[in-house]
Amino acid sequence: LLPFNLACAGTGTVSDPEHWVSRARRDAGRPDAHSDLAPVLDALWLGDPRGLPLGDVRERAIEDGHTRRRFAEVGQRLREHGPLLGIAAARQQSEGAWTWTIAVAVFGRGPQSATVVVRLGHDGGEHLARLVVLEPHQRVPVNRFILPVAGTWDVLQGGTRPEDNQHHGHPEQDFALDLVVRDEHGHVRPLDEPNTASAHFAYGAVVRAPAPGTVVKVVSDQPDRAPGDPGTGGGNGVVIDHGFGEFGAMWHFAPESVGVQVGDAVTTGQPLGRVGNSGATTLPHLHWHLSTGDGDTPRNALPLVIDDLAVDGHARRRHLPRRDERIRGAVHHTRAPGREAHADDDSPAVWLDL
Ligand SMILES: [Zn+2]
Repeated sequence: LLPFNLACAGTGTVSDPEHWVSRARRDAGRPDAHSDLAPVLDALWLGDPRGLPLGDVRERAIEDGHTRRRFAEVGQRLREHGPLLGIAAARQQSEGAWTWTIAVAVFGRGPQSATVVVRLGHDGGEHLARLVVLEPHQRVPVNRFILPVAGTWDVLQGGTRPEDNQHHGHPEQDFALDLVVRDEHGHVRPLDEPNTASAHFAYGAVVRAPAPGTVVKVVSDQPDRAPGDPGTGGGNGVVIDHGFGEFGAMWHFAPESVGVQVGDAVTTGQPLGRVGNSGATTLPHLHWHLSTGDGDTPRNALPLVIDDLAVDGHARRRHLPRRDERIRGAVHHTRAPGREAHADDDSPAVWLDL
């Protein structure tokens, strides 16, 4: 399997549609906002255009073979990723008499999964006139994530390279983040006080849901460890199913600080618990990673790209934090009217002219 190409996460063909998709999902208040695009996606997956809402003329035209062959090819590749996991109707846009619907679909779970951008064109009528499928070669998250803690944090472990990130190689955790709070001298606690867990600047900070989802795991009864005396495992924390096969895990929370239960639907910014020092941790910090939720299968970590960060004082629209960076989330999460959800011209598009 190919390693993640992170240029793809920041500037690839799906970055802009993701922007719209997650906002649509956020507006819908649930992570798997379905749409009436399912029949189209089914036809693609099956590699058979006969399920599409085509007019008589186009129905006859596809019988000539070329479009049927393209459909068969696309369907075969999609089936290699796996079954359709979710669809998000991203947005509609007009282009003269045309109306485009742009959507993102996730096919398959785990390392083989893929996000696929689909653009449907209607030329004024109710029939489909054009269908464009953009297949990225690698899985990038569909969700958009905010920094789940307020204020300024230092990245203790983070990034794509093993030398920057000690999590690298642990199942699910190639891109995991460990975040601490330091003062202007670079200290994580006041040096004139005893080195207890609760003396650390990060201790007790509220951790919030970075994206909508459903709580699928909670641990809250583990004790804090003394700094420098790590226990085992994640300690207290929360795992959220963000939909589309994307699972976020946050660990080492303070005892009894978790305020959500398994099954709860959470919205972006909703408090989950507080930073502590439970589990396998040497000092109070927030551990956060994103994965496909397939446990110990290899290469199931997903790049944890965060929206709207100040990174060492510079604004970044999307960023995967790296060791020794100082990051801060946006004060508010409203944004200017967005960029167009156009794919790059050199994207590996498959045009299906109907
Ligand atoms: Zn960690």
